[in-house]
Amino acid sequence: MRIKAIYERSIALQGNIANAVVDFSKHTVSLVAIVSDQVRNGKTVTGLAFNSIGRFAQGGIMRERMIPRLMQADPTSLLDASGLHFDLSRISANIMRDEKPGGHGDRAGAAAALELAFWDLNAKLADEPAYQHIAKTLEQTPITQGVPVYAAGGYYYPGESSRKLAEELKAYQDLGYRVFKIKIGGAELAEDLSRIETAIKVAGDTGAVAVDANGRFNPSTALAYGKELAAYKLRWYEEPGDPLDYTLLAELGEHYQGSIATGENLFSAADSHNLMRYAGLRPDKDILQMDPGLSYGLTEYQKILALTTAAGFHRTQCIPHGGHLINLHIVTALGLGGCEAYPGVFEPFGGYSTQCRVDNGRVMPSDAPGFGLEQKTELAPHIDHLLGI
Ligand code: MG
Repeated sequence: MRIKAIYERSIALQGNIANAVVDFSKHTVSLVAIVSDQVRNGKTVTGLAFNSIGRFAQGGIMRERMIPRLMQADPTSLLDASGLHFDLSRISANIMRDEKPGGHGDRAGAAAALELAFWDLNAKLADEPAYQHIAKTLEQTPITQGVPVYAAGGYYYPGESSRKLAEELKAYQDLGYRVFKIKIGGAELAEDLSRIETAIKVAGDTGAVAVDANGRFNPSTALAYGKELAAYKLRWYEEPGDPLDYTLLAELGEHYQGSIATGENLFSAADSHNLMRYAGLRPDKDILQMDPGLSYGLTEYQKILALTTAAGFHRTQCIPHGGHLINLHIVTALGLGGCEAYPGVFEPFGGYSTQCRVDNGRVMPSDAPGFGLEQKTELAPHIDHLLGI
């Protein structure tokens, strides 16, 4: 078995979404295809993946460094002992050949898109959904009744914030969501508190509302918000300040009794290790959001999970950033705490296919082979274009 070709294409995110610090209408994502020489059900077996959402396409790094390494490797050196599947640790080692340690930035997403496409390919070779294949390969028991999923959004609506925010959240309820995450930090504290009260009223439960500052606050503002937020007993308070400011997180954790969520902007086991060492996070309440699609893929994510487990965190405290099909399969396979979703935005990558119905706050992958990206109608034309179909 060998790789015949690897393709990458940069795709623009749709919609005019902005959080407190980033305008996503300028963002792109790398869609990747690994074409094998194998045929199943009359079709060439092709692995597909992308580098999550939020960090731009990385085609240059792939084309100049990573894809040539994979194509130049001895084909049998990339396979497992059975010769029937690609060996993901060998694939990862090849992708990273001649790269220095440290500096986990854009290349972590480039490597992840390629590595995850091999997981998709392996699952398709076995003709099973990725969550089943990942669980079997990593000797895990997958979740079978759907994973908890929350709707992230809660945008700002200048002028008539409360009414429109309530409408937005009620629309998520109609889609089957029960837990919401809303933006904070884009308005004055008093307005944010009134938005939080609106969200709690719609959700019917303070624990069904989380807030995300998207890394915007300086330490004193993060603490000031924490002081006011504590009384609400929210689901969590996400990314209060700079994601690498572990002192800020540690100080906030000393004063804020509720859950803090962080980790979506850390891209490696080494960075996660430092988070465990220095951020004062509390294993009984804080939430870890490291995203395999931004962090070299599932091989590295297993190392991250081992570190967080060793630090006392149960894997249900891990709720990866990035509401899309790839993370849904990973969460289901590894028995993590849940998934996010951004209903109606971040297309064509965000969200789930119609075959993965959201029901009463839970979502389950379909039984399509691999990650089932071909079932997502918004993404399917881009896949065909990438493959020249
Ligand atoms: Mg976030």
